[in-house]
Amino acid sequence: KLPAHGVPGTKYERTFIAVKPDGVQRGLVGNIIARFEAKGYKLVALKMVWPTKEMASKHYADLSSKPFFNGLTDFFSSGPIVAMVWEGDNAILGGRKMLGTTNPRDSEPGSIRGDLCVITGRNIIHGSDGPDSAEHEINMWFKPSEVNDHALAEAAWVYED
Ligand code: UDP
Ligand code: MG
Repeated sequence: KLPAHGVPGTKYERTFIAVKPDGVQRGLVGNIIARFEAKGYKLVALKMVWPTKEMASKHYADLSSKPFFNGLTDFFSSGPIVAMVWEGDNAILGGRKMLGTTNPRDSEPGSIRGDLCVITGRNIIHGSDGPDSAEHEINMWFKPSEVNDHALAEAAWVYED
């Protein structure tokens, strides 16, 4: 089981980011990956997967009592997603800020949702909202062997030490 806060050989947070089915259908995968790369976070895991309704329900288990849960999990299992783990200093909260607010109406221009989508039900991207959800989501979508511990040469230019 992989912790969200570092693993042997790493010292930074890890967060689970997924381009939802609408983002994949709209051809926004490259745009979204480019933003995380440009920020300086490190991509340590990536796969395309078509979630089942059961996987969608497990992923969004915290929201199971919400009126939108059935529609949300139908939508999340309606096509492939691009599941990723990004690593970096403050990557969980920093990633959430890059996403923008849940309702894109309130998302600032410059954020992913502020720039690329319009309504809450089609807000194109998921990001872990804290260390506990990051750990749950990383372990739900990836086996430990699918998450990499490689060093990046550019780390010396992103961090001081
Ligand atoms: N959602 C929705 N209606 C709502 C609130 C949320 O359809 O009133 C969907 C939306 O796609 C959102 C997802 O449920 O991204 C998960 O909700 P959460 O509050 O966790 O927002 P997020 O963490 O994605 O910003
Ligand atoms: Mg959430």
